[in-house]
Amino acid sequence: MSLTGAYDDDNIFAKILRGEMPCVKVFEDDVALAFMDIFPQSRGHTLVIPKGVRARNFLDLPPETVGPYLARVQRVAQAVTTALSPDGVVVLQFNGAPAGQTVFHLHFHVIPRWEGEAMKGHGAAPKADVAELQALAARIAAAL
Ligand code: 5GP
Repeated sequence: MSLTGAYDDDNIFAKILRGEMPCVKVFEDDVALAFMDIFPQSRGHTLVIPKGVRARNFLDLPPETVGPYLARVQRVAQAVTTALSPDGVVVLQFNGAPAGQTVFHLHFHVIPRWEGEAMKGHGAAPKADVAELQALAARIAAAL
């Protein structure tokens, strides 16, 4: 999908927001939902998505919602860092398929990094064990 086009209400993250698909939840309020990436590029890879907006990407996000949403992204990145003590943390998002986006509801990735540990490729990581994700989510949630 290019940068232009209609929001698809049946994208995976819209279904997660409606409770039609499961997720391993880390955080939720009226602005954002954070949950574990099911194909994590590193241990603790977390996604933060905005609620109440039909935004495919960052360019679509109504300006008045940018600040509150990014505050949640920052809060989750801080909690991931506190909980897992990485040496670094990647915070990024992709806009449009040519840029690497595969799910077309806006999301920021929070990917902790450790010295000497390679990050798995975007779209190339194996599916995680749900019990392991639940344990990580509990640690991150406790640090919020
Ligand atoms: P994008 O490629 O759009 O930047 O990122 C989409 C992310 O969503 C990827 O990191 C991918 O692993 C993750 N993902 C795809 N399907 C699911 C799913 O059903 N559940 C969860 N938790 N993550 C998903």
